[in-house]
Amino acid sequence: MLIWGYNSKYLNLGIKFSDNCQSCGGVQDKRLILYYRYAHLYYYFRVIYEKQYLIECDFCGCFYKVSTHETEKLNGPPPIPFMDKYGALVLCGFVVMFFFGLLLL
Ligand SMILES: [Zn+2]
Repeated sequence: MLIWGYNSKYLNLGIKFSDNCQSCGGVQDKRLILYYRYAHLYYYFRVIYEKQYLIECDFCGCFYKVSTHETEKLNGPPPIPFMDKYGALVLCGFVVMFFFGLLLL
């Protein structure tokens, strides 16, 4: 039986700062969050198909979208878990090793 599906995660990047909030007004603490969606096979082999950086206001909880390109340019690549980022490549590696093993028999 083939088990596959889609899911999403919020990843707190640990970057905090204070800025003016457009929703609740005033200067509030905010943090940078990465939201990404992925497809999975057997819940383990994953591939990310959508990624969005968000700034969350700690006071009212509203989100603002920020540019992915600019955010990664300033902060470097995000600390996405290995199997979320490269799970599909690991699966491809297993398939290649399986067929390579069949050739050796
Ligand atoms: Zn706010």
